[in-house]
Formats: sequence, structure tokens, C-alpha cells
Amino acid sequence: MSGEAQPVPRPRRRCAKCGGEVRFSHREYAGRGTSAAVLRCAACGDVIRDAARETVKTPQRHTSKRHRDLDQGPPANPVIDPELAARLLESTRDSG
Ligand SMILES: [Zn+2]
Repeated sequence: MSGEAQPVPRPRRRCAKCGGEVRFSHREYAGRGTSAAVLRCAACGDVIRDAARETVKTPQRHTSKRHRDLDQGPPANPVIDPELAARLLESTRDSG
């Protein structure tokens, strides 16, 4: 029996409780511009919080026009002119 384990491409963290495989769940704000990765055991569901790290600010170079449009909000909707609105009101009054 050779104690050598098979080579694994990525050394993964194991659950301390059951030794199961832990998976990345989400990032949690840890204060002072840091965030901690929250991992979850796939086997027992135990939540493990990674050490807090500085949040890396990714520079947004791409400022596409589409993104700008989204920032400005949806395109202006055709507004019913007041005259038509008044007519509509009158018509409803007549019928009612
Ligand atoms: Zn576990």
C-alpha cells in the first residue's frame, strides 16, 4: 500500500466536521473595505467563513453607451397630451 494520493488539479478545502467538499457560496462584507468568502459544505451544509480580505476594486474601463442608457433610465415614454387626456375624461363622464 502506497500512501500516495492521486494528484488533484486543485487542492480543495475540506469540511472540518465531516471532511466533505466545501463550495463557494457567496461573499460577505467584513467591514473596512474587506469581504470574506463564505463556503458551504456540500455534504453536511456547514457554513465556513474564509478570512476577510481586502475588497479588490476592479476599474471599470468599459463605459459603453448601452450602459450609460441604463444609468439614465428607460427611454422617455410617449406621454398623452393634456388635451387628449381631458377628452378621455369627458368621454368617461358622458358615458357614466
Ligand atoms: Zn461537512
